[in-house]
This record gives sequence, structure tokens and C-alpha cells, in this order.
Amino acid sequence: MEYNIAITAQADRQVKDTKNVPFGKQPTEHMFIAEYKDGKWQDSRIVPFHDLTLSPFALCLHYGQTVFEGMKAFLTDDKRINIFRPEKHYERFTKSLQRMCMPEVPKGLFMEALHQLVQLDASWIPNDEHGSLYLRPFMIASEARMGVKVSDEYLFMIVCSPAYQYYAQPLKVKVEDTYVRAAEGGTGSTKCGGNYGAAFYPSKLAKDAGYDQVIWTDSKNHEYIEESGTMNLMFFIDNTLLTPPLSTSILDGVTRDSLLTLAKEQGINVDVRLIRHEEIREALEAGKRVEAFGAGTAAVIAPIETIAMGGKHYNCYVGEDATMYQLQKALYDIRKGTAPDKHNWNYII
Ligand SMILES: *Cc1c(COP(=O)(O)O)cnc(C)c1O
Repeated sequence: MEYNIAITAQADRQVKDTKNVPFGKQPTEHMFIAEYKDGKWQDSRIVPFHDLTLSPFALCLHYGQTVFEGMKAFLTDDKRINIFRPEKHYERFTKSLQRMCMPEVPKGLFMEALHQLVQLDASWIPNDEHGSLYLRPFMIASEARMGVKVSDEYLFMIVCSPAYQYYAQPLKVKVEDTYVRAAEGGTGSTKCGGNYGAAFYPSKLAKDAGYDQVIWTDSKNHEYIEESGTMNLMFFIDNTLLTPPLSTSILDGVTRDSLLTLAKEQGINVDVRLIRHEEIREALEAGKRVEAFGAGTAAVIAPIETIAMGGKHYNCYVGEDATMYQLQKALYDIRKGTAPDKHNWNYII
């Protein structure tokens, strides 16, 4: 099916210098917007980036029907535009929308909107090996109605912002044993706005205590490890890549999936199972070499240097020859187009 996206905008081919702009402050020149009304998607368009007008009664402002995605576009080594795994992001977006009672976006519309917008604002993709264009599709309930109800009207939009990733400073984290990010049966496996709002307070307490972020544990007994901050969590111990299985309280990360796939290809043992934090502690106390890292689109991998558990600090391995860096490089090489893209992860425009 063809989608008719009205483009009332002109491409500006001047390459932008965005190197010193902090992440998320600088939008590109254009955005995509589509309205859902009367039970269907209405006209969609790409227009200059501008502020929205919303009624203070708009449902998204009160009852949390908001869902987002986060993915990136890169320039390959030979300067082609590459969006990384947009179809996988689309699938997850659809699952999040279902869980929040929001209307699905047809796949063709989602892909066409991304394609047209990234093509139009291509001069904003940093021409630099550390740079990318962060793409943020999102949907909000826009019906002006103050009563608690499922909205009948929505806005689906895509905005973009240049992002740079320099050498990531290894993190100091603590295992959270009081607060929870997500409970079984809740919304933890979706990218809905409320999950992030609820995580700010425990994260702030951890920061005040000198940590970069928390390791979330299960909501029943704080016994099993779930995620770290807004990333999936992985370990490399005894020559095995370890990560918890997906559940209703763990987000299905595209980076997680990609790294597990690459590890298997490289002949690394992969073990996806429940992980008690006690088990990690025992390995560290036994003097084993333990690698721990967050996995997510923002940094691919975020190495963890120190973990606080039960009032003690433990050091993880962050040496240059760590396996996590080898996996990160394998992923970089596919995105740059310098390694074969066996799984069709690259969407080249
Ligand atoms: C987005 C997100 C991730 C990582 O997902 P990617 O698709 O790899 O970026 C992990 N956990 C949470 C809670 C997230 O919001």
C-alpha cells in the first residue's frame, strides 16, 4: 500500500556542525505528524519542526497514554544512509501501543514516514564515526476530555536529533533493593512514558549516594536481576554471555537481541536465564573475572566498573580486551557497512 505523505518542506543540503550540541537539545528542521480521528489515520505530513497546540484537557497530560521508540540513522563508510533495524523497532512500538490501548500505525506508514523524514533531514546525520541521528517516533492521546477514558484521538509523530557517542565512562551502579521499575504483569516491557517517570526518584536517590544508576531487581523479592537504568543488563562470566529472559517487566531491547545474535555467531556461549544477584556476588567474591554492561541504542554497550551489593563494592572487568567491546565492535562494523549484514538489519535509504 502506498502512503501519501504531504511534504511541505525543503531539504537543506548544508552539512550541519552539531558536535558540541548536547544530546536531545537540537531538533532537525523537520518532523512527521499524523492524526488519528474518527477511528482512522487521517492526513499525514512532514512539516518544519514546530511546537504543538494541545488542549489542557488532552488525555495524554493526565492519564499517561504515551508511547515512544528510539532508534538511530548512521552514515555507512561509503556515505549511504542507514537506519538500524527499523522493522524490529516497529514491532516493539506496536506491542507497546497494544498494551496502552492505543491504535496501531500501519507498518507501511511508519516505514515511509521514517524514510522520507530521514532523507529530507539527511544533512543532519553527523558525518563522523561517533555520530548518529537519533530518531524518536512517538504517540500521544490528544483528545480533549478530562474524564478517565481511553482516548479516541491521537497524534503520531517522528522527531530527530543529532547524537554523539564518545568513549563511555565505565559506570558505578547499585543493586536496588527497595524500589522497583516494573512489576510482573505491568508495563515494564513497553516503552510507555510512565515507566520513566516512575524510575526518576529511585535513580535520583542512587545519584545522591554517588552511583550513576541502579540495577533493577524483581518486584517480589529483589532477588533476580532485571535491567540497569534504561538499558538491558548483560554479564560475561566463565566464557558465557548471561542475560535474564524477556518477561512482562523487562524491555525487549533491539541491542540486546542484536548482541545475543552476534555472540552466538562468534561461538560465544549464550545463556538466557534468571540471574540472582547473589550469584553475581559469589562469582566476584570467588575472584572470577566478571564483565557487566548495559545494552541499549544510546551507547550500544555501557561498561559497568563497580557494583554495590549488600553494602559492599565489587569491581568488574573493563580491560580493553573485554568480550563486551568485541561484541560492540561487531555491531558497529555492521552498521558502518564494513562487515556483512547477514540478518538484514541495515535499512539503506
Ligand atoms: C529502550 C530501552 C532499552 C533498550 O532497548 P534498545 O532497543 O536496545 O534501545 C532497555 N530497557 C529499557 C527500560 C528501555 O527503555
